[in-house]
Amino acid sequence: MSPDLPTAYLTLLVLFASTLGISIGLRYGAAQAGHRARWTDAHALASLGGMALALGAIAPAPLWAVLAQALCLGAQLMLVRGLAASGMAMAPHHLRAMVAGGVASVALLGLIATVQDAVMAERAIRTLGHAITALVVWQALRLLNRERRSHTIAHTLVWVACCAQLAAQGLCLALALAAGGAGAWSALRPEEPGMLAQAPLLLMLIAVLSGVVGFTLLSAERQLAEQRARARLDSLTGLFHRGALDDAAMTLAVDAERTGKPLSCLVIDVDRFKQVNDRAGHQAGDMVLKRIAETLRRACRATDVAARFGGEEFCLLCPNTGEEDAVLLAERIRARIAAIPLPEEIGGHASVSIGIALAEDTGDARRSWERLFAEADRALYRAKREGRNRVIHAAAGAGIAAKAANAANEAAEPAAWSVA
Ligand code: GH3
Ligand code: MG
Ligand code: MG
Repeated sequence: MSPDLPTAYLTLLVLFASTLGISIGLRYGAAQAGHRARWTDAHALASLGGMALALGAIAPAPLWAVLAQALCLGAQLMLVRGLAASGMAMAPHHLRAMVAGGVASVALLGLIATVQDAVMAERAIRTLGHAITALVVWQALRLLNRERRSHTIAHTLVWVACCAQLAAQGLCLALALAAGGAGAWSALRPEEPGMLAQAPLLLMLIAVLSGVVGFTLLSAERQLAEQRARARLDSLTGLFHRGALDDAAMTLAVDAERTGKPLSCLVIDVDRFKQVNDRAGHQAGDMVLKRIAETLRRACRATDVAARFGGEEFCLLCPNTGEEDAVLLAERIRARIAAIPLPEEIGGHASVSIGIALAEDTGDARRSWERLFAEADRALYRAKREGRNRVIHAAAGAGIAAKAANAANEAAEPAAWSVA
């Protein structure tokens, strides 16, 4: 035995009230975790829109219709905003134009509601409202399709939600257009039973449920990815820490062996850094380390890996970089760091010693990396022994080139802080 239509709409009303409660709960949870989850607002609005549609089906009136359309449209606009805010490509002016168009549409629907002929008004509101909302959902779907390369369950559920919403809006629009003078709502009225009448609301319910689950998973995935990325970073400088350097080095060593392209390693140690701490304090020392890290970040390419693997020790791995380029890069870094002023108590400028080595193919990525690092480290200690504030390449030829560059630097700027 099938339930009568008012009971069916009341059931839908209760279901939408439940999704409203779930959305509000998730919004609260996200706020507690310090996130602004726009999608929870969008689903709360969509649930309210579903409730207004169910109520409108039981007691049709132009004002219900305007309210339902405004809520559904608002929900979809908020969803598009949420998708755009979560990194899906959309020009800000595009988004602003959409929101302005949505507000203007709701104002227009409100104006139509004041027309004397209530049936005509209702029909016009539904036709226009569903058409505009369908356009906005289409836009959300386009944004998602651009991101289809990430075939996760979360992404698929959000995509299903958009498809269900688009189908619901399309069906409503078709019913509104086909209903003739009596208005689309006549098809949904209690005295005319039939699945077709409830199908749009059922589709909207599927959209809200699938969207809530999909977005919950999507934000969990994002948070996990953020935490993973953060767990690879050194907390003081934001560069990779030692473990992340090892992982990245293994990948780069494998790539270098596969492609035959040169991989250079720069090991960088700040000169006489202990004195900075001893004379100006650890906080001042930390500030100097941060500035050095920033200098490294700016000096290297996007494909390079920059890490802080010890207290005042840094490492730069440069794929596709031969001896000459590595020496030029190291010299550039050395010169830029030599321009960082030290705390007033000490005076002068920071300086670093840099050892460079070029990876050799050993057939074993771990061995290649360990050898590469050890050679660069040995070159660094030679640079320390030979007076600091200089670049030494482990290979003899390039070492000569680096020494020549160092000699020129020393002549140009003899007052590095290490001699102050
Ligand atoms: P050298 O030119 O031979 O490298 O001299 P150095 O003083 O830099 O070398 P040493 O290894 O003796 O000292 C390194 C100092 O780095 C010791 C420690 O006080 C400091 N240091 C290590 N980690 C940190 C950190 O996280 N913050 C600060 N402020 N200082 C640190
Ligand atoms: Mg050191
Ligand atoms: Mg040092």
